[in-house]
Amino acid sequence: MPDLRGRGLTGCAKDKQVLLEIQGLHKRFGEMSVLEDITLTVEKGEVVVVLGPSGCGKSTLLRCLNGLEPIQGGDIRFAGKSLTDKNVNWQEVRQQIGMVFQNYELFPHMTVMENILLGPLQVQKRQKEEVLKQVQELLDRVGLLDRKDSYPRQLSGGQKQRIAIVRALCMNPQMMLFDEVTASLDPEMVREVLDVIVGLAKQGMTMMIVTHEMGFAKAVADRIVFIDSGKICEIAEPDEFFIRPQTERAQQFLNIFQ
Ligand code: ADP
Ligand code: MG
Repeated sequence: MPDLRGRGLTGCAKDKQVLLEIQGLHKRFGEMSVLEDITLTVEKGEVVVVLGPSGCGKSTLLRCLNGLEPIQGGDIRFAGKSLTDKNVNWQEVRQQIGMVFQNYELFPHMTVMENILLGPLQVQKRQKEEVLKQVQELLDRVGLLDRKDSYPRQLSGGQKQRIAIVRALCMNPQMMLFDEVTASLDPEMVREVLDVIVGLAKQGMTMMIVTHEMGFAKAVADRIVFIDSGKICEIAEPDEFFIRPQTERAQQFLNIFQ
């Protein structure tokens, strides 16, 4: 896979603009501490890939960013606004931070088009004509314009996941979160979904991506964040991380994929 780093935004110090700032985040489920003292900033246009063993807290971290999980300590700031404020409007935040999950989460009783239009028309109250134009462009870009009247059950996993991505993009988010979006796919469909995400990276979309696809992670990431047992163990550029991981835990983790 071609190396996509150094594609602009992040390399130039004067252009740096923090979009997401996580400061000392703590998350517990009951007595169990799941995330401890997570501190991380993501700049506009940056692609951060989160790696770590199963159960280390990756999904929980993404869910906290989107208000799907309350946090017990620390602060999250997005576009300058605190998301720990009591009055935060999560519906608004979720329009700004799009999220795609492992299992697509498409509405089964709605066509592709109906699934995609729901947010922009019902939530954002945008003009149908304008949205339709955008949807058509995006569906065309992911090669699925001819499936706009299909129902999710008539699509392959890879197609469903590309639709889920289009649906999130149609809200015009400032940032995208991807949680193991290829984990349920047959191997031959992984590529078509990863290619869409690579395309977004090239366009400068700010993203936080949880994945177990190491080749993809290496190619797409500006930075790798390695989490183990709810704590950040390493933050490094991909070359550094994959060639010279600094901790034994990261080395052990990488050995599994070799
Ligand atoms: P990962 O995505 O890295 O595999 P998760 O964030 O899903 O890990 O889970 C982190 C830990 O939190 C695990 O021990 C998991 O069992 C636990 N956990 C996740 N969701 C819940 C929940 N809703 N209630 C209780 N424990 C949970
Ligand atoms: Mg997970």
